[in-house]
Amino acid sequence: MEVFFTMLLNNKRALITGSTSGIGLAVARAMAAEGAEVILNGFGDADEIAALCDELGATHIGADLMTAAGCEQLMAEAGPVDILMNNAGMQHVAPVDDFPADKWDAIIGLNLNAVFHTTRLAVPHMKKQGWGRLINTASAHSKVASPFKSAYNASKHAVDGFTKTVALELAETGVTANCISPGYVWTPLVENQIPDTMKARNMTREEVINDVLLAKTPTKKFVQPAEVGALAVFLCREEAGNVTGANWSIDGGWTSE
Ligand code: NAD
Repeated sequence: MEVFFTMLLNNKRALITGSTSGIGLAVARAMAAEGAEVILNGFGDADEIAALCDELGATHIGADLMTAAGCEQLMAEAGPVDILMNNAGMQHVAPVDDFPADKWDAIIGLNLNAVFHTTRLAVPHMKKQGWGRLINTASAHSKVASPFKSAYNASKHAVDGFTKTVALELAETGVTANCISPGYVWTPLVENQIPDTMKARNMTREEVINDVLLAKTPTKKFVQPAEVGALAVFLCREEAGNVTGANWSIDGGWTSE
């Protein structure tokens, strides 16, 4: 007897922003493993990115998503996609009265405005073909706040509201829109905020890890990037066609408090 194994994302083109590192890279790996044609985006060492493209059979578009023009370049070079995961993001940690205005603009530009620009450009093709998956990497900080992250928390709360709106607008089209909201995932984005958090809270590195980051996490474990990848793949399944407008926590219980 012949046995056929069908991969979940055969014949799907998936664009994942900010996928040269961390969560986005894990999502790209998970989607490629299910047969998707993956388009990577993000910065990094050219040789390392070329090696990733070889590993995943992917292409890479290095557009800077900080501006509308950069997002337009990305979407033009990518062409029509079936799956769009808006994942590129950045963080800055400082008290609000000391928060650099240029950091505010950059965080809102990348974490929020880019999500709007790529979405508005991806939707027409998805609507036309009657199938699409929009997934936005929000954060536990789309549901609850922590001090010293005013721009980040504002951007992620807004991504939640934006995603719900898009889900409602597209509800009858076969296109779903959802957020994935991780707690702390050990990636460069988290590692890089430790020095500023040490300064803002007058703490040691170990205190920041145990008393700030993992203190929020009832399981006392960092979320693994591959766990986010598996959730993203689930949202792309046919069986997830009625999952829309949801904001999926993957945070070790943080936001259930
Ligand atoms: P990361 O720093 O490992 O990766 C960020 C990615 O975005 C990289 O590929 C980088 O090159 C890319 N990028 C940065 N600036 C860009 C720009 N201007 N244009 C295009 N690409 C750009 O970070 P990560 O932790 O994997 O974070 C990914 C997403 O997950 C972000 O939206 C972040 O807010 C969210 N998130 C992370 C955590 C966490 O604990 N790490 C928790 C919740 C949510």
